[in-house]
Amino acid sequence: MPAHYMLRRCLSPWRAAKDIAETVEYCRAHDIDEVIWKVDVEHFNHGLTPLDTIKAYLPWLDEARIATADHGIASSVNPWVTLNHADRRRDMRDVHPAMRWMVDESGAQCRACACPLSEAWQTWLVEAYALYASTKPHILWLEDDYRTFNHEPVEWGCYCPDHMAALSDAVGEPIDREALVARLLRPGPPDPIRAAWFELLGEAMVETAGRVARAVHEVSPSTRLGLMCSESLDGRWWPRALKALAGPHEPVARPSFSPYCEVRADGLLPDRRDHQKELACLPPDTRICPELENYPYTPYAKSARFTRLELGLSQLFGHSSITMNLFDHLGTPLAVDRRYGPMLRGVKPFLHALSDRCGPGGKPRGIQVLFDPRTADHKQLRPGDDMSRLLRLGDGDGWAAPLQGSGVPVIWNPSIVCCTTGQALRALDHETISAMLANGLLVDASALKVLHDLGFGLLTGVEPSDVLESAKTPIVAEAYVDESGGPTDSYMALDTLRVARNSCGITPCDGAQVISQFVDMDRRPIRPAMVQYENERGGRVATYACDLSDGTDVYFMNWHRRRQMQDVVRWLSRGPVELTVDGDATWMVPVRRDYDGYTVVGIANLETDDWPSISITLSSDDGLPARVLMPDEDGRWRDVRPASMTESDAGLHLVLNTELKALDFTAIVLEWNRG
Ligand SMILES: [Zn+2]
Repeated sequence: MPAHYMLRRCLSPWRAAKDIAETVEYCRAHDIDEVIWKVDVEHFNHGLTPLDTIKAYLPWLDEARIATADHGIASSVNPWVTLNHADRRRDMRDVHPAMRWMVDESGAQCRACACPLSEAWQTWLVEAYALYASTKPHILWLEDDYRTFNHEPVEWGCYCPDHMAALSDAVGEPIDREALVARLLRPGPPDPIRAAWFELLGEAMVETAGRVARAVHEVSPSTRLGLMCSESLDGRWWPRALKALAGPHEPVARPSFSPYCEVRADGLLPDRRDHQKELACLPPDTRICPELENYPYTPYAKSARFTRLELGLSQLFGHSSITMNLFDHLGTPLAVDRRYGPMLRGVKPFLHALSDRCGPGGKPRGIQVLFDPRTADHKQLRPGDDMSRLLRLGDGDGWAAPLQGSGVPVIWNPSIVCCTTGQALRALDHETISAMLANGLLVDASALKVLHDLGFGLLTGVEPSDVLESAKTPIVAEAYVDESGGPTDSYMALDTLRVARNSCGITPCDGAQVISQFVDMDRRPIRPAMVQYENERGGRVATYACDLSDGTDVYFMNWHRRRQMQDVVRWLSRGPVELTVDGDATWMVPVRRDYDGYTVVGIANLETDDWPSISITLSSDDGLPARVLMPDEDGRWRDVRPASMTESDAGLHLVLNTELKALDFTAIVLEWNRG
């Protein structure tokens, strides 16, 4: 499908006629395909909106649908509240006296966010959605407050008496909130009640989704129901909720995508947001419409240039549709915008071209990052760990930023080379881990410990050991060693305090090769840093003797690290790597997707420096490509002649004398000659 813009626009009841007219004009002027009308939003929102307030919107929603349809623009509806995002000092107990409210693990209770088991809340939600459905929207969305967590003041919900009764029924023994929390957070091997509890929390969300869908489709059979995803820690129940919501239609989801405000562009690396993990939770036939969000709006929050980069990056990931929340919820006229609109119109032909060759489908290629939405069921906690440690942290993607910063694509799909940190491995079965250890696996100290716990230690070629750090000889740097184990002049600075806290002693076994060492102030080796080992099954394992489960920061990256990452990936791959972006490019998102007969290489330059040329190396089963194409600004794919194109043991190497500007993106299509 062509690139499809979905503009989320607040319908302000005090200026609804103006909103509709201005929005239609804006969409026509800037090539926007669909409006998602936001109802009862943010500052001027009424919490769990009373049905009479919703009824007052209905004539406007009808008028909006008719006005947009006249110009071939689709009209969808986005009520701003389902369970309610947060209390924000609101008290709705008098407005909805029969509702029950969300409770956290300490017993604290919301006054404006409902418990998902509350019958009165479910009835209100179903009636509200039937009202919205009466305006025949193309897609009717459930907001991302349709989640089990982050309902200030309740961070984790819901531990109310009704939920405790439901859990007691499910597990066949009486259990109260205090006992449940103690069992959830028990250090060491997890109590099986964890899995039962998190599944039960999701079940209520799935059942209510089904009730909403039946009511909506009775009123408007052609309306699609879409789910705005919150965070992947709720991802375990999304497939069933999406199926329930879809009814006879395709599932529709809006995974989160962009940082709300402009950040250093490496904040766009997909692992630094939740986007790829959310995608990994969604059924493959889901229509994906990522969330481009510029809150709190205007270029004070995010520039048009940065917004454009996000549009491109989303398309390089294969998403032709994108939801865009670009404007405030206060009724400010759209005419004040002179930046986003022209940018949207200007970049659309380029996005159409990308969508044409890099749309949904295709096989993502790269190093697999391990992720499972049920990791919390398997995680081992330490004394003092809290719900946040259980649910949010250490889930396997610590290598993703260093690899992408080294020009190596990472994917959340199966691949023969995997990387992991933290406890993500605990969610996998014995057979899957065995298969990984017979291929290629990059781990840090935390994942190494898990492999040893699970009985796979011998296959890693290294033995973890406790070390007593001498205050007189702190680790200050990491040194690359040559193939004979001798020192080189390649030193990598380290965050001294962090490495003292997170580095781990390891003893390499016979046959293991140390490729870098931690050193002291006199450059003397203290202990091994990166070690490679080929095990008895022919599998290759690279271990870094530092705990990266909380991720890495900019201190970790430098030219030597980039070389180390690329060298390790080449060694693990036993030959040509699926893609490396070469030269001195640093922060980027490299993408490779294989389609029938051609490969797309996408690159987003996250730097604020321009790149004068593009240099890539990739594995090829088909020798040299028959054609190399890139899109021009007008959206036409043009043959390009590489400055050089050669084959070697490292793969197919191309240099293109094409500039890639700062905060810009592009794609290269390689068409294969397959007779
Ligand atoms: Zn509850």
